[in-house]
Amino acid sequence: MKIQIDEHSGFCFGVVNAINAAEKELASHGHLFCLGDIVHNNEEVSRLKKMGMDIIDHSQLASLHQQRILIRAHGEPPLTYQLAQQNNNFIIDATCPVVLKLQKNVQKGYCEMQKKQGQVVIFGKKGHAEVIGLVGQTNDSAIVISSIEEVKKLNFDIPMRLYAQTTQSLQTYKEIVQAIENQYKERTDNVDFVWYDTICRQVSNREESLKIFAQAHDVIIFVSGAKSSNGMILYEICKSVNKNSYLVSSVDKIDKNWFTNMESVGVCGATSTPLWLMESVAKQIEIEINNIKK
Ligand code: SF4
Repeated sequence: MKIQIDEHSGFCFGVVNAINAAEKELASHGHLFCLGDIVHNNEEVSRLKKMGMDIIDHSQLASLHQQRILIRAHGEPPLTYQLAQQNNNFIIDATCPVVLKLQKNVQKGYCEMQKKQGQVVIFGKKGHAEVIGLVGQTNDSAIVISSIEEVKKLNFDIPMRLYAQTTQSLQTYKEIVQAIENQYKERTDNVDFVWYDTICRQVSNREESLKIFAQAHDVIIFVSGAKSSNGMILYEICKSVNKNSYLVSSVDKIDKNWFTNMESVGVCGATSTPLWLMESVAKQIEIEINNIKK
């Protein structure tokens, strides 16, 4: 039985940056508060907790004074910075540069739309930390849509600037853009609609290589935390080309029955999945397979 780990899976550079920043802080100060899970992966979060990191939520942030607080790769709305600074906390800002650039673009679009009485629209997952950070750039006025069905609730009589959460599917985003363009063109020739391709290629570039990887194996074990947006998108891609694809968050979720009469297993994961976890999963699969043989 062949077991292979996908060389393109694992942390993206945004997550690597955030984890490096946390490890550096923990090495020099021994303790660190992180606002929200540093990465949507419980196993990696527990590893850093053992090193001295405490995860806090926004309600706890208000009561912290003169502490060191890490902002994760997803970024935060301006209000979070104000709140942390007014209590003299020190911020270690690990917002991914790709997200930071998107936040600035959304802010610019918001100023433009204010002058033109238009709307800012974000294609993303409602309630996701990155989306909250983006909506915060617009004084909470941006409209969030999560699917093509929601396009109909937009106003096509006023201008629009459209952005996407970095980890959304590029294909769905393009379909949404097309649907919006069609709606405008039905109403007027003088369309003031601009959309921006803000999808991070760290995720979308993985889609094609992941399809090839998933097709090349009898069974696919996709390792991801359930809260990872790109994890769910990439897992669905595996399933679309290989029906023997299974989602696991940790080694204890592996079922030996998945490997009966199979000859090759592929292990892959999201941009939030650490390599060490995929390696542990691969080792556990080997143990399960050896148990089947006995
Ligand atoms: S997926 Fe892209 S935008 Fe998101 S943290 Fe990783 S590198 Fe940054």
